[in-house]
Amino acid sequence: MARRRRKRIKQVKRVRRPSRYFQCPRCGAMTLTIDFKKLDSADRKLAIARCGTCHLYCELEVPAVYDRVDVYNKISDLAYEGRLDECSKPYQEPEGEEAEGPTEERGEEGPEEDQ
Ligand SMILES: [Zn+2]
Repeated sequence: MARRRRKRIKQVKRVRRPSRYFQCPRCGAMTLTIDFKKLDSADRKLAIARCGTCHLYCELEVPAVYDRVDVYNKISDLAYEGRLDECSKPYQEPEGEEAEGPTEERGEEGPEEDQ
């Protein structure tokens, strides 16, 4: 009764740490971040690339299946072709995206119950 005892510990060390930061195609710093924003359409989304160093700000409409890496590839392609301006916009701070003014629902004091 031979029992093969194979103790094989598969040690697949896959350090796949998806870095949040990419190298900026404009200034070369590793401070480029890519975020996604939902669009109305189900199969498209908006990719926003921002660089914290040179304040690059790019908006790209991409297929919803796109990953950050895909977007990054697209952006570096644009940069390579010198077409980065086509998607770049004035830099916007990450916060304050919903600055739509105060809501005008003011609870009026004094219940009017004229009946
Ligand atoms: Zn940059």
